Amino acid sequence: MQMRIMIEVKNLSYKYEERTALDGINLTINDGEFVAIIGANGSGKSTLAKNLNGLLLPTAGSVVVDGIDTRDDVWTVRSKVGMVFQNPDNQIVGAIVEDDVAFGPENLGVEPTEIRRRVDEALSTVGMLEYKNFSPSKLSGGQKQRVAIAGVLAMQTKCIVFDEATAMLDPRGRSEVLSTIEELNARGMTIVLITHYMEEATRASKVVVMDGGRIARCGTAREIFSDAKFLKKVGLEVPTAVELGARLRLKNILTADDLIVRLK
Ligand code: ADP
Ligand code: MG
Repeated sequence: MQMRIMIEVKNLSYKYEERTALDGINLTINDGEFVAIIGANGSGKSTLAKNLNGLLLPTAGSVVVDGIDTRDDVWTVRSKVGMVFQNPDNQIVGAIVEDDVAFGPENLGVEPTEIRRRVDEALSTVGMLEYKNFSPSKLSGGQKQRVAIAGVLAMQTKCIVFDEATAMLDPRGRSEVLSTIEELNARGMTIVLITHYMEEATRASKVVVMDGGRIARCGTAREIFSDAKFLKKVGLEVPTAVELGARLRLKNILTADDLIVRLK
């Protein structure tokens, strides 16, 4: 079956003045795919994320989103790829939940009745419709992130990039947001999940490991997380299940792969 390409990154390099943050990245993200990006602090994950929706433009190489080079039409690119960031408080702009969700489509010039329809649909998708008239300040971190996701959905993007969007949440908020992400992917949304929680990355169909501005490895969760030596080398924590698996394997009880599959 021929996969449709959502994002094609070719030989992408990015420099902040003299500092090289990305160095020759090649990555294809297919329509409907769930890709996790992991890597130590400073490895270039956020810089890559911002290049995926034109918040940053390549110093060299190219990023093509749904057939459009980010350098040619950044506005169309941003209407196709939405971003959810780490801090829920920095992303909420409206004083009332529904106004906040309406903000994106308003900026895109969508007409009011269509905006109202989209706001209700988006809030219902993330399970926040009943909070429509709430002040965001009354919400938990996980609820705020779901409102931020609804704001992206209301713009009808084809792909959402989550840059450590669960990092500031408590375990409950994290699991709310993760279920929302999985639900969106099940409905066909392309997902790019940047995370430092290895167990979150095991949900993805493809895991990309960044190290020093390059892709150190790209593979299935099984391939990546069964190599504890490699993970340690690139400065990542080995997921508990893998460590546990390594111990159990010594006793011939279970393989690490068996445990990873069980995490799903
Ligand atoms: P990650 O998200 O994986 O932690 P980043 O993409 O934020 O990595 O950073 C990659 C590299 O670029 C790091 O060395 C970081 O110090 C540098 N960097 C990030 N943002 C800036 C900036 N605004 N100005 C200069 N250097 C930056
Ligand atoms: Mg980052």
